[in-house]
Amino acid sequence: MTRDQSLDDGFLELAISLAGDNTAGGGRPFGALVVRDGWVIATGVNEIHARQDPTAHAEMVAIREAAKLLGPDLSRCTIYASGHPCPMCLAAMHLSGIEAVRYAYSNEAAAPFGLSTAAVYADLARPFHEQRLSIAQLAPADAADPAIYRAWRDGTVHHAAAAARSPERVAAPAPFRQRAERRWPVPAGRKTRP
Ligand SMILES: [Zn+2]
Repeated sequence: MTRDQSLDDGFLELAISLAGDNTAGGGRPFGALVVRDGWVIATGVNEIHARQDPTAHAEMVAIREAAKLLGPDLSRCTIYASGHPCPMCLAAMHLSGIEAVRYAYSNEAAAPFGLSTAAVYADLARPFHEQRLSIAQLAPADAADPAIYRAWRDGTVHHAAAAARSPERVAAPAPFRQRAERRWPVPAGRKTRP
């Protein structure tokens, strides 16, 4: 066994151990590590249950923790995951520059327990119009040359699009609005309505 294989095995064992420990608290059996240059930068376990957050997969939690230390560019990092990554986590790995992922248990092994994401992979491989999710572009007038993208590139502030919309059209129904305002107060100096 080479040194790298030994390291891989050790990191995977740790990910599996985290996954096992997570079930004690009612969590799902998934754990993950972000490793760079042989060092564990961050760990994560599936926290969907604890956080009531459907995106709190072990890999996502580990990526977020690693990014707190390293910033959003996670190049030179490897993820070790107890289970086959789902499409969301795999996309997050691509977008954050993660260079490699090593996982222990396959989707096939997870399927009998209802823990496989193979069906989502299959759905995403289909054209938009054949997917379960309704996906449609509702193109604005400047769709071919978005003003907000140009303003971002040029370092200017773009207000025209917001001004063109009536607050009544974009406002959420009152119960949702009240809840949102209660939980996330609008910063002083920023008005949500004219
Ligand atoms: Zn995932």
